Amino acid sequence: MRLLILSDIHGNLEALEACLAAAPAYDLVVNLGDVVGYGASPNEVVERSRELGKFFVRGNHDKAATGLIDVHDFNPMAGAAALWTRDELSPENLEWLQALPQGPAYLEELPDAQFVHGSPLDEDEYVITVRDAVQPMLDSNVPLTFFGHTHVQGTFLLTHMAADAYHPVYQTVGQPETAEFPLKKEARYMINPGSVGQPRDGDWRAAFAWFDVEDRVVTFCRIPYDLKTAQDRIMAANLPLRLATRLAAGR
Ligand code: ZN
Repeated sequence: MRLLILSDIHGNLEALEACLAAAPAYDLVVNLGDVVGYGASPNEVVERSRELGKFFVRGNHDKAATGLIDVHDFNPMAGAAALWTRDELSPENLEWLQALPQGPAYLEELPDAQFVHGSPLDEDEYVITVRDAVQPMLDSNVPLTFFGHTHVQGTFLLTHMAADAYHPVYQTVGQPETAEFPLKKEARYMINPGSVGQPRDGDWRAAFAWFDVEDRVVTFCRIPYDLKTAQDRIMAANLPLRLATRLAAGR
């Protein structure tokens, strides 16, 4: 069985389509939240995501865009984008987003894994460093956690010896690339596929991953996409200009 793992699409339709076109055949899509927010195609991305599968956890931007949390907790740029998204969403898509479940969520097909937006301990927590990851890995009753929220692709791992981090190293800045990461049976992991629609690890390419369940291999992927169209849409929507420019920097 192969899981396609998507997170933090953030209303970026061009990035989502590029990932789907590059993905190998898969059995199931898991979506780790922040379907909308920042990008200018929230309805299109919601509809495409709904076509892909049924397994979702909600992100903080999904909550803000649908009024489940106050945008005053957001920085001004994120708040402006959340309010724009709320106005833009069709009533049906807004209702669907509002009903997304809180993580952790579990898949019957993969009983040793959990799926969250931020951390298994707090759906809104940012797990950025190894230090942040240790407690959630220790406290989880399953060895595998797939998470998003930080927009940084990579893995934290914990063995009886040490805690460590792995971030894929790629050869180019503009070509499609993959990096395989085989999992060891005895370790615990927190695995982040990266952000489809707004990477923040210095690489502008759309990020996602897949997991070959029987082989226990995670494959990280970076895919160039039609950046200019995504930026033009943000500018045409009168969203903050920085939301367009940051996409080119991957920051
Ligand atoms: Zn996000």
